[in-house]
Amino acid sequence: MQSQTHAGIGMTSQRTRDRLVYRLQQEGIQDEQVLGVMRTTPRHIFVDEALASRAYEDTALPIGYGQTISQPYIVARMTEVLLAAGERLKVLEIGTGSGYQTAVLAQLVDSVFTVERITELQDKARIRLRELNLRNVSFSRGDGNWGWKQFSTYDGIIVTAAPEQVPEELLQQLADGGRLVIPSGPSGEQRLRLIVRRGENFEETMLDWVSFVPLVKGELK
Ligand code: SAH
Repeated sequence: MQSQTHAGIGMTSQRTRDRLVYRLQQEGIQDEQVLGVMRTTPRHIFVDEALASRAYEDTALPIGYGQTISQPYIVARMTEVLLAAGERLKVLEIGTGSGYQTAVLAQLVDSVFTVERITELQDKARIRLRELNLRNVSFSRGDGNWGWKQFSTYDGIIVTAAPEQVPEELLQQLADGGRLVIPSGPSGEQRLRLIVRRGENFEETMLDWVSFVPLVKGELK
């Protein structure tokens, strides 16, 4: 009979991750680099131990404070759309949360600047990324509606919580030719958007219907 411990390891094994990647391909993710990174990144260390056995299901899971770790399909999709901005990218992420999306990005771009409003989540994410030896990530605690001006402009900006409307300041921190990937709209009607900057013009493309936690305005927690 298998012991509990072994069963636990089984559920977070490489074979389980391979199955998730196969499913992402079925759902339309094509970028080999993105699939490769999702195959090797241990999502189970980004959730509480009690949920580790569910970490390779293609679903969002609770991470405390009313927040969720994004669904793997959404992480892959947003990353794939963002990477089309080119090579050696400098990326801003709003909503660090568990740090899982951050970890995926850090393995595919030059540098990641990530902003989170909840201190406890940021602290945990920082520890996990250090464990994975991902050192090209800078963390800021703040209100992501204001971006992170000090290091702007960015080749890519990814927002993992949904505002009702796209914050103007994020558009301003986008480099020429840069790509902003952001869910927005009222709860129940959110749509993922890609916005590409061309000088002072912003070209918008509507992508998937999605369901994100809200991008909170104002006061820090
Ligand atoms: N990519 C994360 C998603 C976390 S959920 C993951 O996969 O784990 C969205 C995150 O956005 C939460 O951690 C929430 O605290 C954060 N958030 C919400 N509003 C914010 C704001 N105005 N500024 C910065 N972070 C915000």
